[in-house]
Amino acid sequence: MSGADRIKAPRGTFDVLGESSAARAVLEDRARAILGGAGYERIETPTFEATELFARGVGESTDIVSKEMYSFADASGRSLTLRPEGTAPVCRAYVEHGMHKLRQPVRLWYLSSFFRHERAQAGRYRQFWQIGAEALGSEDPAVDAESISLLAGLLDELEVASLRLRLSSLGGLAARQEYRERLQAHLREHAGRLSEEVRGRIELNPLRAFDSEHPGTRAVMQSAPRLLDFLSAEDAEHFAEVRARLDVAGVAYEIDPTLVRGLDYYTRTVFEFTSDRLGAQAGVGGGGRYDGLVQQLGGPPTPGIGWAAGIERILLAGAAPHPAPAPVDLFVAYGHSRESEPATGRHAPAGAFALLSEARAAGLTAQMELAGRSLKGQLGYANTLEARYVAIVGAGETVLKDMLGSSQETVAQDAVVHAVLRGLRTL
Ligand code: AMP
Repeated sequence: MSGADRIKAPRGTFDVLGESSAARAVLEDRARAILGGAGYERIETPTFEATELFARGVGESTDIVSKEMYSFADASGRSLTLRPEGTAPVCRAYVEHGMHKLRQPVRLWYLSSFFRHERAQAGRYRQFWQIGAEALGSEDPAVDAESISLLAGLLDELEVASLRLRLSSLGGLAARQEYRERLQAHLREHAGRLSEEVRGRIELNPLRAFDSEHPGTRAVMQSAPRLLDFLSAEDAEHFAEVRARLDVAGVAYEIDPTLVRGLDYYTRTVFEFTSDRLGAQAGVGGGGRYDGLVQQLGGPPTPGIGWAAGIERILLAGAAPHPAPAPVDLFVAYGHSRESEPATGRHAPAGAFALLSEARAAGLTAQMELAGRSLKGQLGYANTLEARYVAIVGAGETVLKDMLGSSQETVAQDAVVHAVLRGLRTL
């Protein structure tokens, strides 16, 4: 029999299976405990948004918007985009639901998948998962320090190895504008030594020159003016207070004046955690302040700060959390009258299904044989599930095996659940 052509998952995507999915569930539990404990509430935003949200929010000149978005026109011709990041959608939701009327800061966290048309490689995918946290409505440096500390705590709990935290401040919009002009002048002066890509972005996005690996560009950037030298007194004070609070919290960091992040909305504090474990894609998570974003999206002037961290990178660089196997109180097995028949032809008797349903209704965790295995095979399978009890359903009566005590008794089928409940209680 010739099968049809196999269809594969698209390049840069992956299936989350078995242990990986269990490890993700543990990660989610830890995140909920840490962020929930700090007053953050979970938010879910739609998988797709109006393209305009990212064009305006993230910035037309960024790599994300200019070349990595999965955008499409829907049947009514509206341009929609699979979300490439989470901050703009959260700010959109803040404005849309009038959250500025709630007690501030409004703190929200998410764990969702995101989409970017990037060059796929280890640690870099086209659909990937991020956990993120945003605090809107306060410009207190304590919020910056708290936000960074929460991510540090989460990564620490998940045992992410060889972590470094780089920290900087981009200042307010005025300082950034002045700095941008000075940097552009510097880049134009040395244009001949820059990579073609950086040269092409002098007008649109000069800050990204700091991210270049190109040797000539790197040399030019060594003598480039530094944004930290352009901060207003107020911004410098804010940055000093953030650092002082991180010191108090015992969070180690390095000041890196070349730290620029790939999104346009950042102001003041920016930070990034990297792990030397990860090779080329070293970024584990990062974020910063975005004091102008809510207003840019049509809301009232609202300061905000947040971060996002990549789930795949956390799991790659961390000690993948080992979930406890789900307990199975009862496995329902049955004997065959015709063991010689092919397994696929053997169906479980209705009595076995009735017992399974009764056990679940009584609050037990229960599974049953569904693949027509021999009785020996069923007992072996129950063993690998670490089932506490196995009921072997026969005609009229049922044998109940205690897999822990290795004892067994014959009971009427309608007494099995009661016997299991009694046995579990005497553990
Ligand atoms: P960003 O939203 O670009 O600041 O990214 C935040 C974090 O998300 C990064 O530090 C990575 O851990 C993760 N991340 C970003 N892009 C990808 C990707 N294409 N594949 C896997 N993880 C990613």
